[in-house]
Amino acid sequence: MKKVLITGAAGFLGSHLCDRFLAEGFHVVGMDNFITGDLKNITHLKENPNFEFIEHDVTKYITITGTLDYILHFASPASPIDYLKIPIQTLKVGSLGTHNLLGLAKAKKARLLIASTSEVYGDPLVHPQTEDYYGNVNSIGPRGVYDEAKRFQESITMAYHRFHGIETRIVRIFNTYGPRMRLNDGRVIPAFMGQALRGEDLTVFGDGSQTRSFCYIDDQVEGIFKLLFSDYVYPVNIGNPNEISIKDFAEEIIKLTNTDQKIIYKDLPVNDPMQRKPDISLAKKLLQWEPKVQRTEGMEKTFSYFKGLSQDELYKSEHRDFSKHIKI
Ligand code: NAD
Ligand code: UDP
Repeated sequence: MKKVLITGAAGFLGSHLCDRFLAEGFHVVGMDNFITGDLKNITHLKENPNFEFIEHDVTKYITITGTLDYILHFASPASPIDYLKIPIQTLKVGSLGTHNLLGLAKAKKARLLIASTSEVYGDPLVHPQTEDYYGNVNSIGPRGVYDEAKRFQESITMAYHRFHGIETRIVRIFNTYGPRMRLNDGRVIPAFMGQALRGEDLTVFGDGSQTRSFCYIDDQVEGIFKLLFSDYVYPVNIGNPNEISIKDFAEEIIKLTNTDQKIIYKDLPVNDPMQRKPDISLAKKLLQWEPKVQRTEGMEKTFSYFKGLSQDELYKSEHRDFSKHIKI
């Protein structure tokens, strides 16, 4: 049985990857320090004999006993609210954490796939974004802690590949959504759905003309799975190219949730990208992959998940108390 280590296992993407690798017959070791994740995302795996969990901060030295065939490094705060609240952990998990995982991959002769992001393109001047675009990132802006950590992560991964011959893969993930997103992580889909469920107005930042392209979790996991088992070492965009403005998206959510909420406008966050849409020609050609889930279907499934949350979770207004993790 092949063994895979998944970091960020208690998070949104990481927990779905655990499910997929277990379903494919792997032994899965999940690792997380719960800084933005939640134990409830993996409690259903507790009794599975092929799943083990290690509570650990990946910025500290990592020990895994026995063999290891694959590593998927998904640990990192991922929402703008999270990485603005914990900027130093964000920088550390992308840099020191990735360095530790590369060292582990080298020692175990394991293949490592890292979770990069469309944020490496910053506020892009090329549209849609192709993998050969170098990006337009403000290194000293508030989002710089995430964007630069991810850019460094790509650099050190390529350096380990070139210098040490480590087998590496880089996925550039575009906005992905689905069940198990944290309701209060501040990302636009949980934000709008939470507001609709609480009967609050939907907060559109700026004039809402900025665009995003949303990919359903099942499509994302399929793309990542295929990339891991391909022989391509350079970055590959995985996302859904169906682009929509945030204002139109807010209107869609009002229709979907069958509420009569209004849209209210708030300030646009600093360096908020004005447009984002992946060019997925490379993934199509290389992996014979393209997204299958339409936005209406994906949003319905996601809304059902949020509707199932308790009143307590729905009204919890804090984003998260990070104080116990802050030791810098
Ligand atoms: P998430 O916050 O739900 O999950 C991240 C997980 O990593 C959490 O469980 C958190 O506790 C854990 N973590 C953070 N720092 C850690 C550390 N030092 N040690 C151990 N665990 C740690 O976020 P997500 O949306 O699931 O994102 C997962 C990965 O995918 C991230 O690397 C993110 O940058 C990348 N990504 C996600 C998206 C998206 O749209 N969801 C887009 C681009 C990139
Ligand atoms: N956004 C918004 N209202 C919200 C939350 C987000 O209008 O309550 C906007 C945000 O400014 C951005 C887009 O929605 O333009 C997507 O934001 P998100 O935080 O989901 O992720 P990003 O793609 O910016 O990383």
